[in-house]
Amino acid sequence: MTPPARKPYWTNIIFFTATPLAAIAGLIWLYGRGGPHWGTWILTVAWLYAVGLGITAGYHRLFSHRSYEAVGPVKLVLMLLGGASFEGSAIDWSSDHRTHHRYVDTELDPYNIKEGFWHAHFGWLIKELVPARNHANVKDLLNDPLLQFQHRNYVGLAALVCFGVPTLIASLWGDPWGGLILTGLAGMVFNHHATFSINSFCHWLGSQPYSIHHTGRDSWLTALFTYGEGYHNYHHEFPADYRNGIRAHHFDPGKWLIAFLSRFGWAYNLKRARSDAILKAIWKTDEEKILSRLSATKSDGLTVRLQQAVSSARLRLEEAHQHFLKLKEEYHRLKDSGMQSLHHQIENLKGELKMARENFEKALTEWQHLIGHSSLSLQF
Ligand SMILES: [Zn+2]
Ligand SMILES: [Zn+2]
Repeated sequence: MTPPARKPYWTNIIFFTATPLAAIAGLIWLYGRGGPHWGTWILTVAWLYAVGLGITAGYHRLFSHRSYEAVGPVKLVLMLLGGASFEGSAIDWSSDHRTHHRYVDTELDPYNIKEGFWHAHFGWLIKELVPARNHANVKDLLNDPLLQFQHRNYVGLAALVCFGVPTLIASLWGDPWGGLILTGLAGMVFNHHATFSINSFCHWLGSQPYSIHHTGRDSWLTALFTYGEGYHNYHHEFPADYRNGIRAHHFDPGKWLIAFLSRFGWAYNLKRARSDAILKAIWKTDEEKILSRLSATKSDGLTVRLQQAVSSARLRLEEAHQHFLKLKEEYHRLKDSGMQSLHHQIENLKGELKMARENFEKALTEWQHLIGHSSLSLQF
């Protein structure tokens, strides 16, 4: 496939230049009249999160990746909030995002970081595709009447929610201009750059624990200002997972919101990557990092033997882990069957399982000594 051509996208150039200028001018005007009400500041923070989650939990994880399903009202609210970001309809947004995942770091990636930080952050938005994007990769979304409706009426809906709702809420305490300018307009500009940072900072700053074969990076710092999308190395490796930050302390409001909704049945079929697949990715990545460090030093017999030792230790670890998991599954299957006649067999299996666990733990310790640090610990 040849990369698509691009020409200046004047609508976006004007929009993305005029809106920050209008926000600055509006805020100066607002402060000339005494500044926004304190209630409007609280509303602004809440609104930033509401729209930010519309993008992360809605546009990104629900529509683009189908990492969970949601009941109609939740879908509607996430669609409206995501739309209020003025980042396009869910159909257009998801089409670009699926292309990004499929062709990441190549010239077919719409926000390819290899074309520079600025291009990935913002530059790609001001260059229009020729021919325009097609929707071949979002046929599932095109069949959704709700998303079709949003796509057809995008600008009106986005303006209504982005500007209308905050103006209406802030007018409850007599500050409609504050709601319009601070929450609606300045909030939209802020959220633009928060979301754009996922394509720039999250492919530039942080670590690569799960894969070194793409530029996605994990960073708690970028997670803080991208509403939890900062665990981007994980996300590119396991895009169908409804979580981005998989550990309990990882800042990921999208994950918390989806888990919360699932308690009431409002979100369901939450997808998670298998923990053995995650561990396998971590170990393989650790191995690849060491092998590349070794090959950067002298290439003599000793280096080759060291590389072989690392690779076989990783294989031993993986085999020990798989064996342990297999026995564990078998043990629980027999135990749960409740059949008395299997008692002897279950006891034998228990002994075998204990040995397999010890073997695995030994292989893990050896591996950690070899690579010089402990892998991310997960429940095994
Ligand atoms: Zn990415
Ligand atoms: Zn994604």
